[in-house]
Amino acid sequence: TFLRRLKRSAAMWCALLSALGSAALVVNEQTIPPACAFTLSSMSATINAQAAGADGCEARAWRIAPGKSLDRIQFNTSQSYFEGTDTLDFFAVESDGQLRSLTQHSQPFSASNPIPPVLWLTQATDEVVLVLDAPSGGSSFIMHYSCTAVSGFLLPELLDLWLAIAALIFCICCSVTLWMWCLRRRYQRRTRATESMLVLHSELMRRRAEARGELFAEEQEAERARTSSLSALPAVAYLEHRSSSQRLSMVSYHSQDELVTAEQRAGDSAEEGERRTSEEEAECCLCMEGYRDEDMVRVLPCDHYFHRECIDKWFDSTQFQTRSCPLCKRDPLAAKPAAAAAAAAA
Ligand SMILES: [Zn+2]
Ligand SMILES: [Zn+2]
Repeated sequence: TFLRRLKRSAAMWCALLSALGSAALVVNEQTIPPACAFTLSSMSATINAQAAGADGCEARAWRIAPGKSLDRIQFNTSQSYFEGTDTLDFFAVESDGQLRSLTQHSQPFSASNPIPPVLWLTQATDEVVLVLDAPSGGSSFIMHYSCTAVSGFLLPELLDLWLAIAALIFCICCSVTLWMWCLRRRYQRRTRATESMLVLHSELMRRRAEARGELFAEEQEAERARTSSLSALPAVAYLEHRSSSQRLSMVSYHSQDELVTAEQRAGDSAEEGERRTSEEEAECCLCMEGYRDEDMVRVLPCDHYFHRECIDKWFDSTQFQTRSCPLCKRDPLAAKPAAAAAAAAA
């Protein structure tokens, strides 16, 4: 397209220079003076060549050059008359400025070859020249022409427009790319932030779990200490325990005033003296079995006693909690902390 344009402009300059130099159109070695050449720049017009030759022009030329690439031209002839050897010919202007006849077999229209009422010239050109060679001076014609420009988006006239559109599209592409890049970067930054937050969160959870583990370990340690303290509580055969407690209660009963240190226990024993001898006292409240002489019983600091297996199971069922006597709900470890600690140490 550019080459074509360059060629066209070169041809235009050549034509201009030649016009300045000779100021005349040369057709078939016949020179038409500028006074007899007319330029028509509109896409459609009517040419009225009545009484041709009256102004002294032997030949006349009409240059149809609307400044556009022409696809075809339609001529509608309403009236034509040729006298003698007068002729009418159509020419296309080549890119090098040369004229080329457009009539069939280069036969110009004449009295023997009349112009058809409708004539199509389908030749891509920029300019069409009508030349009426009428030395007789009596020929005339009236014809209307209408040009059809070359359609298509690669027209040289539209080149600037297309360049502008291309530049616009390029700008849009650039800005879209930039925008996408910015968006991606922002997304990446956000993702990185989220990742670091996740890492932070997992680290936090890990530390929390660790702390919980430490707490659990401490709790386990305490539980182990409690269990050993509980297992260190005195366990004796029932027979032995019964005889010793009877003896103790008797001692307590008789020397209530003298034994100040055992006052509380003695008081309790005195109150429960009657109950201990009852049938109820002789059975374990955990398994509801009566005590036999050879059964091992564990005596709690509150002086309540149970089968060793029964009370151990009872304590096992309340792991990690404060143990209590099934009868009086007193904490067997809180009653004598010093003794329990001593037992645990032992
Ligand atoms: Zn029992
Ligand atoms: Zn108790």
